[in-house]
Amino acid sequence: MLANGAREIGELIRRGERSFSFEFFPPKDEAGEEQLWKAISELEPYRPTFVSVTYGAGGTSRDTTLRVTGRIARETSMLPMGHLTCVGHTREELESILDEFVEEGVHNVLALRGDPAEGPRAEWTPTEGGFTHACELVALARDHGGFSIGVAAFPGGHPGAESMERDLEVLLEKQRCGAEFAITDMVFRAVDYFELVEKASAIGVDIPIVPGIMPILNLGQVARMAELSGREIPADVRERIEVHRDDPAALRAEGIAMAAELCAQLLDGGAPGLHFYTLNRSKATREIFAALRITV
Ligand code: FAD
Repeated sequence: MLANGAREIGELIRRGERSFSFEFFPPKDEAGEEQLWKAISELEPYRPTFVSVTYGAGGTSRDTTLRVTGRIARETSMLPMGHLTCVGHTREELESILDEFVEEGVHNVLALRGDPAEGPRAEWTPTEGGFTHACELVALARDHGGFSIGVAAFPGGHPGAESMERDLEVLLEKQRCGAEFAITDMVFRAVDYFELVEKASAIGVDIPIVPGIMPILNLGQVARMAELSGREIPADVRERIEVHRDDPAALRAEGIAMAAELCAQLLDGGAPGLHFYTLNRSKATREIFAALRITV
C-alpha cells in the first residue's frame, strides 16, 4: 500500500500470488472506445491484478490514456496502470502528467522511453528539456512520490542496445532508480524469458519480471509488430503456425494452443504472472484462460 492508501502493483506481484494483467491501448474513435469498454467489462470478472493502458506511439495519447485509466479507477473494480513515455515531452510536462495521473486516481505507472515518432527503428533523439533514457523518468516518478513504478524488459535485449548484457545493466539501473517490477516485450518461447530472468538475476536484478503474452492469431500482424521493434518470430514458432496458413480457423486454434502452452511453461517455471497484450479484445485471452483452466 502506498502512503496515499493506493494499491501498489509492485507489492501485489512481490506478495507471490500469481499476477494476471491485461494491456489495452487508447482508442482513436467512438467504435474503438466501444470495443475497449466491451473488452474491459468481459475481462473484469477474471479479477486481474491490474490492467494497463499504453501511451500512444510518439507521445500522442496523453489525454486518452489519462481519461481511460481514470475511468477504470473510478468505474471498475480493477487497478489501472498508465504507461508514460518521454517522447516529445519536457521534464516539466512529464511532471504535470504525473500530477494528472494522481488527480485521476492512478498511482501505478509504467515508465518508458518510448520510440521516435518516425517509428521504433528511427534514431532516438531526446526532446530538448526532456529525457534520454527511461531511467530518468523512473527517477522522476520516484521523486514525485506516491507511485509504484514498472519498466520494460526485453527477451534477448532491446533491439537498439549494444548487447543483451548492456541492456541487462540498463534494467538493473532502472531498478536502482526506483522500478519495482518489469514487464517484457512479447515472449514467443519460454526459454527466451528464462534466459532473460536468469541473466538479470545474476547481475543483481531482483524485481519481478512479468512475461508479456500475445497469441499469434494472424501471422502477418504479429510478424509486423515484432519486426517493427526489431525482432523476428523464432523459426520453430513460425513453422507451427505456417502449416495452417490456408486455414484461418485452424491457424487461430493453433495460436491459442501455443499461447496456452507457453503460459503453462512460464508459470510452471516460476514466472510471477502473465501480462496479456489484448489489442482491446477479450476473446483470445478468455480462450487461453479456458485452456489453462482459469475460470471466473
Ligand atoms: P530505455 O530503458 O531507455 O532503453 C532504450 C534503449 O537505450 C535500450 O537500447 C537501452 O539498452 C539503452 N539505454 C538505456 N539507458 C542507457 C544508458 N544509461 N546508457 C546507454 N544506453 C542506455 N512504447 C510506447 O510508445 N508506448 C507504450 O505504452 C509502450 N508500452 C510498452 C510496454 C511494454 C511492456 C514494453 C516492453 C514496451 C513498451 N513500449 C511502449 C515500447 C518502448 O517504449 C520501446 O521499446 C522503447 O524503444 C524502449 O523503451 P525503454 O523504456 O525500455 O527505454
